[in-house]
Amino acid sequence: MTGRLTGKIALITGATGGIGSATAELFAREGADLIVTDLAEDALRELAARLAATGAEVFTARLDVSSAESWHEVIERTRQRFGRLDVLVNVAGIVDWPGVEGTTQESWDRVIAVNQTGTWLGMKAAMPLLRASGRASIINTSSVLGLVGSGAAAAYQASKGAVRLLSKTAAVEYATQGIRVNSVHPGVIATPMIQDILDEEGDQQPDIVRTPMRRAGHPGEIAAAMLFLAGDESSFVTGTELVVDGGLTAH
Ligand code: NAD
Repeated sequence: MTGRLTGKIALITGATGGIGSATAELFAREGADLIVTDLAEDALRELAARLAATGAEVFTARLDVSSAESWHEVIERTRQRFGRLDVLVNVAGIVDWPGVEGTTQESWDRVIAVNQTGTWLGMKAAMPLLRASGRASIINTSSVLGLVGSGAAAAYQASKGAVRLLSKTAAVEYATQGIRVNSVHPGVIATPMIQDILDEEGDQQPDIVRTPMRRAGHPGEIAAAMLFLAGDESSFVTGTELVVDGGLTAH
C-alpha cells in the first residue's frame, strides 16, 4: 500500500535522530507534507535534501521542544504556510541513565523539560491547528521504560511514564474534537541514543538478552507504528499505548 498519508500535513520533532528521521522518510514516501524540526539546522537541511526525492513538500524549522517560545514560532510558521496540521509526532527525547541517588537536579530538570514538558508544550501549542484538521492524530513517543521499571534512568523513566498518562488524558479530552492521541513505546532500538552501548555490548546487552526476539529493533520498525497511528486506518484508535519491543515487556 502506498499513499497512506496523502494530503496530510505532519510535524515531527527530533526529526534528525534515528527514529525521527526514519519516521520522516516513511511519512514522505507515503505522501505527507512535512514540517521537520530538531535542534541542529545543518542536520535538518541534510534531511530535507534526502526527502526531496519523494516529492513531498518539506519545510525545516529549528525547534527546542522545551521552549514555549520556540513552539509558538514554529506553529505560527506552520499556520502561515499550511493553515492546519493533521499529525503531530513528538519524537524528541534525551536520556540520562543514573538511578534515584545518582541523578543530579540539573539532569533531572533537563530530562523532564525535554521529554515531559516538551511533549505537553507541543500538544498545547499545536491544538488549534490540529482542531482545524477535523481528523488529527498526535503520537507521543514514550518507551518500554514508560511501562516498567528498570532500576536505573530515574528521570527518563519518570518522564516517559508521564508521557503515557498525558497521552491518555488528552485522548479523553479531545476525543469529540477530531483529535486522537496515542503513545508509542519502543524497546531497544538501534539509534544514536544507545549506539555506544550497542557497539560495546552487542547482542550481550542485557535488554537484548531479555528481548524474546534477541535483537535490537530498527528505527523503521518504530516508524511503521507511527504510520499506522498517523493515518486514517487507525481512526477508532485513541488513548492506546502501542508497544514495539520484540516482546521485551511480554514477560
Ligand atoms: P536520537 O538521539 O537518535 O534522537 C533524538 C533526537 O531528539 C535528536 O535528533 C536530538 O537532536 C533531538 N532532541 C534532543 N533534545 C531536543 C530538544 N530540546 N528539542 C528538540 N529536539 C531535541 O534518539 P532516538 O532513539 O531516535 O529517540 C527518539 C525517541 O525515542 C526519544 O523520545 C527516545 O526517548 C525514544 N526511545 C528510544 C529508544 C531507543 O532504544 N533508541 C527506546 C525507547 C524510546
